[in-house]
This record gives sequence, structure tokens and C-alpha cells, in this order.
Amino acid sequence: MGPLSVPASVTTILLDIEGTTTPITFVKAILFPYIQDNVKEYLLNHWQEKECQEDIDQLRLQAEKDTGLNGFVPIPENDAELQQVVQGVVDNVHWQMSLDRKTTALKQLQGHMWRAAYNTGQVKGEVYDDVVPALRKWKEAGMKLYIFSSGSVEAQKLLFGYSIEGDLLELYEGYFDTTIGPKVESESYRRIADHIGCSTENILFLTDVTKEAKAAKEAGVHVAVVVRPGNANLTDEEKAKYPLISTFEQIILPSAK
Ligand SMILES: [Mg+2]
Repeated sequence: MGPLSVPASVTTILLDIEGTTTPITFVKAILFPYIQDNVKEYLLNHWQEKECQEDIDQLRLQAEKDTGLNGFVPIPENDAELQQVVQGVVDNVHWQMSLDRKTTALKQLQGHMWRAAYNTGQVKGEVYDDVVPALRKWKEAGMKLYIFSSGSVEAQKLLFGYSIEGDLLELYEGYFDTTIGPKVESESYRRIADHIGCSTENILFLTDVTKEAKAAKEAGVHVAVVVRPGNANLTDEEKAKYPLISTFEQIILPSAK
């Protein structure tokens, strides 16, 4: 682990979020508890809105499919008492989240709740201290910066648009999520290069996950594995296989040589 000299061919830096720019605990310790603690209030405050009613309809359809699953929580029809419907949705959301489910209906409501939370300043996107100074420096040096994260592009933009360091969206040229392909498949990195309009060897990818680093490397992308507090431990073999950095300050751009 230490300074990493970026090859001269690199013009673009592609960044993972969780475990790379942002503590891996952000989603589990901040975003998910926010939903659990605020879903009831959110439903009551947004009940009259079409979007909120559509979210509830989707959750009810999902609940119908889930009938019979262990611990299943039904959602009463809309002609039931408001309090009963709200409590049904609240209990259903808690039940789904306790099983770490990723149903479209749940993700849709969560996305809308997080948008409201960021907009009102109740939640701010976390970034490590070294991230913003490094990104500014890289951008000033002419590097193009992109994000590749499994969170949706909308969620990525909320995190950086409403971060603890303010609106950071101007730092990035673009955002990719898994609609371009899984992060553990080489083809995704070739597609990203195509979209950017460069060659894979022009890209440096920073991630905490070695399976992603492996896929990127196989596509010809340069990689560094980011070691942050709380990230999954690396095996000795993994440590030997990839350049490791513990802070973005360790990245040395070609022009700075
Ligand atoms: Mg990650």
C-alpha cells in the first residue's frame, strides 16, 4: 500500500462509491435506518400525492405475490381506514427490509423517501476527507471523472448533489449504474469505455471489491483497490495482485511525475 503512479495512457478515472469514496456503512447505518424510522411520517405527509399512492399500489401488488411467505404482512385495500393502510405499509416495509429484500416496489418507495430526505437536508451524502480535494486536483489536471456504482444513477446524484461537502455534481462528467452491466463482468467496462468514447486502457478504476477490479483489469482497464476502514478484508493473494491505496492522496498523476 502506498503511492500509485498512474500510467501515462490514463485520461479518465472511474470511481466506485461504497467502500471507495464513501464509508461502506453509509447505506446500512444511515440510509436504511432512515427509511425504517421515517416511513410512517413520510406516508402521512405525502398521502395526497399521486406518486405516493402509486408507490403504495406497487407495494400492495407485491404483497399479494408474497402472500404465504414466512412473516408476510398484508396491506389493506385503500377503502380501509387510513391508519390501517398506513400501518400495513409500515409493517410490510419493515418486514421486507428485515429480509434485505430488493423488490422493485420497495426500492421505488425508498428512492422517493431518500430524495425527500436529501432535499430537506435530513440526509447528506458522506465522502471521505481525502476525496473532494483529490477529485478537484485530478479534474484541474485534465482528468475526466465518472462514477460506476450499483446504486441507481438517481441515487448517485443525490449522494453527491447533497453531500456533506456540498454539491459535487460538477466534478463528474457522467454516471453509470448496473443498467450498463454487472460490476463483476468485463464487458461492462468495455461498454463504459465505448460510452465515454475512449479505450479501456485510458481508464483507471478505483474500487474496494477485488472481483470488480479483476473484471475491469481483464477488459484492459487500469485498477487500484481502495482499502478503507470497515471494508472487507483482502486475502494475501488479493493484496499481492492489485495496487492498493488507503487514501486518494496516494494517486500520483502522470503530469505530476
Ligand atoms: Mg464498493
